[in-house]
Amino acid sequence: MTELTIALSKGRIFEETLPLLASAGIVPQENPEQSRKLIIGTNRPHIRLIIVRASDVPTYVQYGAADFGIAGKDVLIEHGGQGLYQPLDLNIARCRMMVAVREGFDYAAATQPGCRLRVATKYPDIAAEHFANKGVHVDLIKLYGSMELAPLVGLSDAIVDLVSTGNTLKANHLQAVEHIADISSRLVVNKAALKLKYAAIQPIIDAFAAVIEADEAA
Ligand code: AMP
Repeated sequence: MTELTIALSKGRIFEETLPLLASAGIVPQENPEQSRKLIIGTNRPHIRLIIVRASDVPTYVQYGAADFGIAGKDVLIEHGGQGLYQPLDLNIARCRMMVAVREGFDYAAATQPGCRLRVATKYPDIAAEHFANKGVHVDLIKLYGSMELAPLVGLSDAIVDLVSTGNTLKANHLQAVEHIADISSRLVVNKAALKLKYAAIQPIIDAFAAVIEADEAA
């Protein structure tokens, strides 16, 4: 039997991936939210899951330490996608990449020619490209979490972050002022693994695709 390793992150992606795995007959033996294990077996002895940070999924797959994985488009844009085949948009963990500022902040004035906007974000490449396309000069401040805090304490004028329900922005008196991109999670497959382990991987891709088609038709 061909050994397969699948890279996933905990939380929303893991939860929303479970039905997809089930459609391919794969059931994890443990829940990573409860277990501290980083390698989790499945009901199929030759298939295992590795639990990694969301932004590390493309790296594990790129270098072949995992044969395939699931990663948000936000993470894939920042990673660059080298060495990865991206056959499917899984339509899970959907959200929007937005620019947000403090309520009452005059964003139009702050983005006039000649102004420099201070932008805090975990996504400097996405932010840089967005503001370059608009011709707005920015100073980018890289953060690793809780970007919503930055405008509240004067670290930045704006943030570029993911917004799902909008509750986090509202709770912190922030408002979205621009939509940069719709984000969802994608299947990423190591290009060499797809060739060498085609017979094992392609049926799983087909099972995932069938679930997505059925969801879209519903
Ligand atoms: P919400 O309050 O539902 O708008 O969620 C916003 C918070 O959750 C922000 O801190 C985001 O960085 C994070 N977030 C929302 N959607 C996602 C996602 N699909 N993947 C990772 N983080 C997300």
